[in-house]
Amino acid sequence: MVFTGVGQPLVARDLPNPEPGPGAVHLSVHACGVCRTDLHIVDGELQRPKLPLVLGHQIVGTVSALGAGVMRFAPGQRVGVPWLAWTCGKCRYCAGGRENLCDEALFTGYDVDGGFAEETVADERYCFSIPDGYPDVQAAPLLCAGLIGYRAYSFAGDAERLGLYGFGAAAHIVCQVALAEGRRVFAFTRPGDSDGQAFALALGAEWAGGSDERPPEELDAAIVFAPAGELVPAALAACGKGGSVVCAGIHMSEIPAFPYELLWGERSIRSVANLTRADGEAFMRAAPAVPVHTEVTVFPLAEAGAALETLRSGSVSGAVVISVATPG
Ligand SMILES: [Zn+2]
Ligand SMILES: [Zn+2]
Repeated sequence: MVFTGVGQPLVARDLPNPEPGPGAVHLSVHACGVCRTDLHIVDGELQRPKLPLVLGHQIVGTVSALGAGVMRFAPGQRVGVPWLAWTCGKCRYCAGGRENLCDEALFTGYDVDGGFAEETVADERYCFSIPDGYPDVQAAPLLCAGLIGYRAYSFAGDAERLGLYGFGAAAHIVCQVALAEGRRVFAFTRPGDSDGQAFALALGAEWAGGSDERPPEELDAAIVFAPAGELVPAALAACGKGGSVVCAGIHMSEIPAFPYELLWGERSIRSVANLTRADGEAFMRAAPAVPVHTEVTVFPLAEAGAALETLRSGSVSGAVVISVATPG
C-alpha cells in the first residue's frame, strides 16, 4: 500500500520486488504495526517523507533472501524491523551511544520503504530477533510502541507514581512493564473515554480518568504519549516537586504558555527521540520477562487506510496492526 502525498488515500500498487543490497535482508512481511507517527506522515506534520512511500515501521517478517555479507540472520528466521533504519556511525551522536540523535539517520516507513507491503528489505544491523511466544501480530507493536515507550519509561527514572497521558499502544505496554517493576500507574485518556479508562484499570492501573482531571495524589513522573501540547502543563501540574514530564511522541501540537510555578520545584520536561539499537535489545529481553501482552486490533493489508483511521479515532484498546497474508 503506497502513500503518494498529503490528502491522498493509500493505494494498492504492484511494486518491483525489493532487492536486498549488501548487508540487507529481504523479508516476507507477516505483520506491521500502525503508529501515531504514520498519521503524522499522512497528515503532513512530518514533512520530508520519501514519495511515493510504503509506510510502516513495526515490521515482523521472515528472512527470505540475503544480500551480500549478511552475517546475523539466516533464511527462515523471524525478525523485526523498527523505526531506526540506518545511522552514519561516525558523528558525535553515533560515537557517543546516542545514534537515535544522528543527523544522517534514515527511518523505516519514512526515508525508506516500510512494512505495509508483502515484501521489504532492511539493513540487518538494525533488525531485532523477535522473542519466541509472540504471534506475529502481537509482536509487531513491540517494535515501536513497545521499545520507544520503553525508552520514554527509562527517562521516568525510579518514579513510584507514574502518569500515562494517552492510553494507546505504547501506554498499554509501558503500564505492564511499570506494574511488574512495582510502580503505581495513573492513566489519563481523552475526557469521557470510559472504555479507555476501563481498559487501563483492567491492566492494573490504580486510577484512570480524563486528561482534564487531576489524579488523586501527585505524580513522580508522567509520560505524555498523546500529541496534544496542552497535556504538558497539565502533566506538570499533576507532578510533585522534582517530577519529570517525558514527551514521547515525534510531533506535538504547540505547548501553551504556562506560569513558571508549574516548572519550579525542580520539575523537568524532556522529549524522547527515536530509539537506539541498545534500547531495542533491552526491551526485547524485558518484554517476555514481564511478560508483556499486547492487545491488538487487526486489519488486512488492503485495509491499511481504514487501519490508520481507526487509530486516529481512538476507538480501539491497545494497538492497531496490519496482518499480511502470505501471497499464494
Ligand atoms: Zn512508531
Ligand atoms: Zn550519526
